[in-house]
Amino acid sequence: MRMAVMGASGRMGQMLVRLIDESDQGILSAAVERAGHDWIGRDLGQVMGSVARGLVVTDDLGAALASSDVIIDFTTPAVTVALAQAAAEAGVAHVIGTTGFSDSDLAAIAQAARTGRIVRAGNMSLGVNLLVTLTQQVAAALSVDYDIEIVEAHHRHKVDAPSGTALMLGEAAARGRDVALAEVADRGRDGITGARVPGAIGFHAIRGGDFIGEHDVIFAGEGERITLRHVASDRALFARGALKAAVWVQEQAPGEYAMLDVLGLPRG
Ligand code: NAD
Repeated sequence: MRMAVMGASGRMGQMLVRLIDESDQGILSAAVERAGHDWIGRDLGQVMGSVARGLVVTDDLGAALASSDVIIDFTTPAVTVALAQAAAEAGVAHVIGTTGFSDSDLAAIAQAARTGRIVRAGNMSLGVNLLVTLTQQVAAALSVDYDIEIVEAHHRHKVDAPSGTALMLGEAAARGRDVALAEVADRGRDGITGARVPGAIGFHAIRGGDFIGEHDVIFAGEGERITLRHVASDRALFARGALKAAVWVQEQAPGEYAMLDVLGLPRG
C-alpha cells in the first residue's frame, strides 16, 4: 500500500515516516509539507538526519495524491478540511489525526466522506478508545449525583484546548447520560463561578513541558470518587494507530469512520 504523510516534518509526521519505514504493510509514497517550508525540495532521509533515500519532500499535493492509496494527516484544521475534499476527489483514503475542528469544519469533512473514505479520530490509541467505551458505561451506570470532570495534560506546544481526546471522553460521558455535551459542558472555571451546576461535565487543560497526553475522567460522588485514567508515554502509540487505520480503511465503503470502528469497539 502506498502511504503519503501530510505534515512530514511535524512531531507526528516524523514519527509516521519512521513507522512506515519499519512496517511491512506499506511504503512511503510521498512526504508533503507546506509551501515555503525549508524541507521542500530536499531529500527526506537527509533532512531527518539520515542517509539520502531518493524521496524529496514536496508541496505538490496533487502529485502526492496521484501516487498514493492513502494519506495520513496530522496537521491543522484548515489544511485537513481542504485535504479531505481533494483526497475524496482523487480516490485516496484519508486518515485524520488533526484535532481542534469547528462545527463547520466537521460538516465539511462529513461532506467529503459522502464519496471519500475517511477515518477521523482525536486519539488513535487503543487504550483511549477503550477509555471512551468505559466512560460511557460508567456515566450510564451512575446518577447525576456523581459530578464528571475531565482533566487533561499536554506539552507546551499544543495549540487547542480542551484536547480532542478530552472532547471525545466528554461526548462519551454525555452519551452515557443521554444528554447533549454542548448543553452541559463547562470549559474551564475562573473567578466567582457560583456552585457547580448539577449535571455539568467540566473540562480542565494543563499545558507544559513534554507531556505526551494524559487524561483523567473523574466521577466525584458523596463519599467516593472513581477516576478512569489514560497516560500516553510514547507518541509512536498514535502513529501505530494511524497506520492500522490506513490499512483498515482501504477495505471500507465511502464514509467517515472512527477509531472505535477500526478497533472493533462499540460506538455507543
Ligand atoms: P506539529 O506542529 O509538530 O506538526 C504539524 C505539521 O503540519 C507541521 O510540520 C506543519 O509544517 C505541517 N503543515 C502545516 N500546513 C501544512 C500544509 N498546508 N501542507 C502540509 N503540511 C502542513 O503538530 P503535531 O504535534 O504533529 O500535531 C498535529 C495535529 O495532530 C494536532 O492537531 C494534534 O492535536 C494532533 N494529534 C492527534 C493525535 C491523535 O491520536 N489523533 C496524536 C497527536 C497529535
